[in-house]
Amino acid sequence: MPPWQCLLDKCDNIWMEQQFASDNGAGMCPEALAAFLRANESGHEVAYGDDTWTQQVCDRIRDLFQTDCDVFFVFNGTAANSLALASLCQSYHSVICHAVAHIETHECGGPEFFSNGSKILLADGDNGKLTPDAIEALVTKRNDIHYPKPKAVSVTQPTEVGTVYSVEELRAIAAMAKRRDLKVHMDGARFANAVACLGVHPSEITWRAGIDVLCFGGTKNGLPVGDAIVFFKRELAEDFSYRIKQAGQLASKMRFISAPWLGLLENDVWLRNAAHANAMALRLHQRIKDAPHARVLFPVQTNAVFVELPEFVRKDLVARGWQFYTAIGDGGCRLMCSWDTSPETVDRLAADISELAGIGSNRKGPG
Ligand SMILES: *Cc1c(COP(=O)(O)O)cnc(C)c1O
Repeated sequence: MPPWQCLLDKCDNIWMEQQFASDNGAGMCPEALAAFLRANESGHEVAYGDDTWTQQVCDRIRDLFQTDCDVFFVFNGTAANSLALASLCQSYHSVICHAVAHIETHECGGPEFFSNGSKILLADGDNGKLTPDAIEALVTKRNDIHYPKPKAVSVTQPTEVGTVYSVEELRAIAAMAKRRDLKVHMDGARFANAVACLGVHPSEITWRAGIDVLCFGGTKNGLPVGDAIVFFKRELAEDFSYRIKQAGQLASKMRFISAPWLGLLENDVWLRNAAHANAMALRLHQRIKDAPHARVLFPVQTNAVFVELPEFVRKDLVARGWQFYTAIGDGGCRLMCSWDTSPETVDRLAADISELAGIGSNRKGPG
């Protein structure tokens, strides 16, 4: 699968306030910004995470998950995944994940680098999901000393193609992991969108299902920067602060990373933001799914619509000023909604797609 290629050759004369390239395109949500400003008005604070804001947020996250977990903050998801996996593995170990996993395709070898060489082993599976059988096949393929020993499984929830593991699917994966003596890591860059989709308590798809460590993404959900690493098995977090510091990921003024989380966690703003983004993707899907030249590639469960569009449609969309990522073989496009995507923006994009790829389209292809 080729890497994402951003279609940034946008038309200069059309300016769009909202785009569908990434949920990182959106700014901070007002609640996160308000908490950020409150943290700035609270006077001097202890540095490096021993401040009252960071302690408050850690307690809130423990309340949220209903368990006594260890919580850490780093600047982004790549660092969160890389350092969490490094804490699970020695250099001679390996991590099993899906072939399209972010840790494999979008982290520049960060997990391998920070673990001093743990190898990533790839499995296939429908809709971007790992299965217990695929995991077992990789574990049992080799057991000799010449091959890196599988030590962890990494699941992305929701997956890179916007699908969601059910509680049962996660339980089955974790049960297989336990049988094969593997730790379970969850890349939850869009964890909120999965919780909003499933309507379950966050504990049900994490520690109660057998997940050992969660990288809890906040950035795509409305934060300015900063993801949380949540260790449900606290012994796995031993000396983790040192790992964070050595990696250059320990924020000196930690309160500005942690405090905005309060804005998300108070009054379930994180779930509201995620539910909204999911609803916008569903709305977009509803409006374009029947266009004859549009082929939806994956079930729409969270905040992205993956759709195959002919080249002439993609080109015309770009010419009209729309930005989105293209990938997945020929003509696969990712249309990503954010916490602030408005229904009007969705409808304008949907109208353009329907017009270009629809029944009324008088252009049947390039040329
Ligand atoms: C966005 C994302 C991350 C984190 O990426 P950063 O750019 O490092 O913040 C991790 N995993 C998945 C699946 C993502 O989509």
